[in-house]
Amino acid sequence: MEDILDQISKVKRDKLGTDIPILIFRVLRHYTNVYASDLLGEKASNILFINAGKALGEALGQRLYDEDINKYLENISKFVEDEKIGILKITHLDDNKLVVQLDECITCAGMDNIGKRICFFEVGLVAGLVENYLGKRVLAQETKCNANGEGTCEVTVNFG
Ligand SMILES: [Zn+2]
Repeated sequence: MEDILDQISKVKRDKLGTDIPILIFRVLRHYTNVYASDLLGEKASNILFINAGKALGEALGQRLYDEDINKYLENISKFVEDEKIGILKITHLDDNKLVVQLDECITCAGMDNIGKRICFFEVGLVAGLVENYLGKRVLAQETKCNANGEGTCEVTVNFG
């Protein structure tokens, strides 16, 4: 079956092309977030975004897969930067834990400090990419966020 990524990858905009200004992305991203929180409560809304990110991570993971973990992570970093999601750096990897830093995050880089971490979609995305590779569930959380005044976004994944 064709997944969501296949469906939405088909773009026919002869005149306008495939790029949009980042503000338009953020309008869609943040308004959806605010209204999902109103409707479902903040916790359920966060789970919704994590799960959506995970679904994308799993679909993407199949496309970027390499049995060599370092090559796989390299493919992911390249994709993330090419698509201007951010600049992904692996800051820690061992048998139990992966920590990635996302500079210039598409969702929140440059935002004022609003006192909370908000990149749940990105957390899910990283979790989905790791779950795709390991073939098992992992625990992931955002451990730094621009929107929380921490200067970058960081996702920590535990799988030990
Ligand atoms: Zn963030």
